[in-house]
Amino acid sequence: MSEPGGPLPLAQPVLGAREEELVLEVLRSGHLSLGPRLARFEHAFADRVGAVHASAVSSGTAGLHLALRAVGVAPGTEVVTTPFSFVASANVALYEGATPVFADIDPVTLNLDPDAAAAAIGPRTAALLPVHVFGYPADLAALEGHGLPIVEDACEALGGTYADTGERVGSRGHPAVFGFYANKQIATGEGGMVVCASPAQKERIDSERNQGRAPDMGWLDHDRLGFNYRLSDLHCALGIAQLERLDAMLADRARVAALYRQYLGALTDRGLGLPCADGVGGSAARRGWFVFVVQLPSGQDRDATVRALAERGVPAKPYFPAIHLMSYYRERFGYRSGQFPVTEEVSARSLALPFFPAMTEAQVATVVAALTAVLGRVAPT
Ligand SMILES: *Cc1c(COP(=O)(O)O)cnc(C)c1O
Repeated sequence: MSEPGGPLPLAQPVLGAREEELVLEVLRSGHLSLGPRLARFEHAFADRVGAVHASAVSSGTAGLHLALRAVGVAPGTEVVTTPFSFVASANVALYEGATPVFADIDPVTLNLDPDAAAAAIGPRTAALLPVHVFGYPADLAALEGHGLPIVEDACEALGGTYADTGERVGSRGHPAVFGFYANKQIATGEGGMVVCASPAQKERIDSERNQGRAPDMGWLDHDRLGFNYRLSDLHCALGIAQLERLDAMLADRARVAALYRQYLGALTDRGLGLPCADGVGGSAARRGWFVFVVQLPSGQDRDATVRALAERGVPAKPYFPAIHLMSYYRERFGYRSGQFPVTEEVSARSLALPFFPAMTEAQVATVVAALTAVLGRVAPT
């Protein structure tokens, strides 16, 4: 927790006596890894999202990597995904010698546009990797029509529900990956979880996170390539405590988002864009609130806006930069501006505002007052 009266953070986990108690228990038990908290965390998580199986891993990125392997992504294949995401969702294809093939996004939900994804599918496509961006569920029903394996990047979407069924994100049966970095809905410092319905996928993920060992932990014979993507019992203990307070934290995030919506309403007349509301197009989609990202009015200089907000004690961050325009991707694949126009327009205007469960109405009001003062004042580009 930040000190009362201290600087306003961009994100902040909720950690208390219960986290301390469960982590201390692990320390005192001496059983720091592959102990009883691992299965306990996995079972509690699977129950929470309505999944059959869950495998805890060392990060969301590690989980995405293992999930792609588990659905059969191999060297020389392609993975269709979104360029408007955290860079990890594209990098994991590269880890396997596969190529991420980008498709543009829907301007309202900011998720993979199903028609653009369809156009990007080719003979070498081995999987689709939709990202539930900013916690808003991607249109999975449309993507499922292609009959290809799907891996869901649900790292931002704990607490969300699918557009077509209204069921919880993670319950659909495809491997879906959650992340527990310090700013996520539940925070274990570092960590992730892969959920799936297939026992064979679960077995492969469990083995590959642990050096390729057999489930009986035979020491010597590693019959497949593996990694060390294990999550320690200290992290699992934190995760168990965080799951116990998940409903309260999600309700608090929704409370802060509603306050932002109310306070920022007047700025929409000045061209400010707000995150889409739940149920776009009459769907059952519900967002699992993760970040509060606004779209600055077009022409507003974002870097100058960030500096002017910082001068007023308000941190803000451009989020996300488009993956295809990152220098590594430009140099390796020859991407240039103009290839994914919706992503480029959205990512040029996006700004993440301070957002965390303990945020008070007064803090929301401070952020909005600063943004109101700054909008239109910094010279247009
Ligand atoms: C957080 C996040 C990840 C995983 O991040 P890790 O830091 O590896 O846990 C992956 N994809 C998206 C979209 C994310 O936001």
